[in-house]
Amino acid sequence: MDVVQLERMVLNYLDTLESDKHHRALGYGPRFPRFKLPKTLKEFHEFYDMYLKLRWEIDNLESIVNEKREEFENKCNHEWVQDWENRDERSRWKCTKCTKFR
Ligand SMILES: [Zn+2]
Repeated sequence: MDVVQLERMVLNYLDTLESDKHHRALGYGPRFPRFKLPKTLKEFHEFYDMYLKLRWEIDNLESIVNEKREEFENKCNHEWVQDWENRDERSRWKCTKCTKFR
């Protein structure tokens, strides 16, 4: 048995145990499936469907990133230092702990 078949079997078995559901209950994201580059129109449609799902997941992750960043910034006891790397702004400061700018 080659390693590709073994992985397929393990993943199929984990699906029967509702592994994804249990992971999500603990706060984990989805397990991203492997993709196969399409060689036929049918495979292309499957590939495109997967692309759309991954796009949706990226948008979802971006929302979480922004929400968590704001949450951590609001809890931070900021330590402001002048940001000398940013030469576009006249006076810009950033927090050394959470990287918030002001
Ligand atoms: Zn901060």
